[in-house]
Amino acid sequence: MNDRFGRNINYARISLTDKCNLRCVYCMPSDAEFKQKGINELLSTNDYKFIIKGLVELGINKIRFTGGEPLLHPDIVELIRYTYEECGIDNIGITTNAIGLCDIADELYKNGLKSVNISVDSLKEYRYKSVTRGGDLKEVIKAINKCLSVGLKVKINCVVIKDFNEDEVLDFIMMTSIYPIDVRFIELMPLGEGNKLYQYGYFNIFEMIENIDEMYKVNNEENSAAQYYKYKGAKGRVGVITPMSCSFCSTCNRIRVTSNGSIKLCLHSKEELDIKPYLNKPLIFREIMKENILEKPQKHHLNENQQSDTNRNMYQIGG
Ligand code: SAM
Ligand code: SF4
Repeated sequence: MNDRFGRNINYARISLTDKCNLRCVYCMPSDAEFKQKGINELLSTNDYKFIIKGLVELGINKIRFTGGEPLLHPDIVELIRYTYEECGIDNIGITTNAIGLCDIADELYKNGLKSVNISVDSLKEYRYKSVTRGGDLKEVIKAINKCLSVGLKVKINCVVIKDFNEDEVLDFIMMTSIYPIDVRFIELMPLGEGNKLYQYGYFNIFEMIENIDEMYKVNNEENSAAQYYKYKGAKGRVGVITPMSCSFCSTCNRIRVTSNGSIKLCLHSKEELDIKPYLNKPLIFREIMKENILEKPQKHHLNENQQSDTNRNMYQIGG
């Protein structure tokens, strides 16, 4: 359905948990603790199914499961199967740190998953370990190979941070020559933990890519947040996601569902709609969602304010 600015809202990002098995420095505090035991105290698997079905009936035709770390959800395979088989959604992705992905990539693919966005900020083991506070890069590389071998489309997400990994940009670009994958560079955003790093860590990746002679612009997918390029002769593409230096609000077609049952129409707004009261009430859910989508903000104010308006961290929203 359309919002009041004529944007066709057809993409939902659904966070399955705010918990994570890593603690990336720009995303989660090192001492983040999760009070309750278990993985998903707030929305049950049936709640997620209700929400997915309801959103599909409203015109959502693309779904991404994210988090926190979505692979920690015990029913991720079932939710993907449900979305694909029972809701008829073909365009299903996950955004993941890929820890444990190698073992279930095949099962996810067979149940309807089409694409994985894997977050990797360094190709050097010691740096990867330090930015994630403990992650093992070898496991991620193994997962990338496995995903490609089972037929999943792979995109790499790399947050570029000044004086940390900007010297690896070319190494990441070279991955698109070796593998049939897209690598997407993301600007660091001043949001949650990212606020602490932003002042010193922001790096204008757009400028850097534009100045590499061997790169040329290619067509973007419709409503894509990324501007895509290709390195001469490469198999995959290089994307640049620049919420700061160049916002994509005017074509934003997405809404977000948090794992505690709120709808966020804009990543950077503090406005949220608690949809828990409307669970299992299809008619009222539909009406409330229609009204709410009309209220999607026209744009974020990251540049004016140099910080996000949301009170949440990225892991509590679903990136
Ligand atoms: N755990 C999964 C992962 O890391 O891919 C999914 C959730 S994570 C919050 C989603 C994406 O948000 C990741 O690619 C991460 O790098 C990105 N992210 C988190 N905090 C960010 C920030 N302050 N600025 C830019 N990107 C950020
Ligand atoms: Fe976890 Fe993803 Fe946040 Fe890293 S970016 S701490 S992997 S939720």
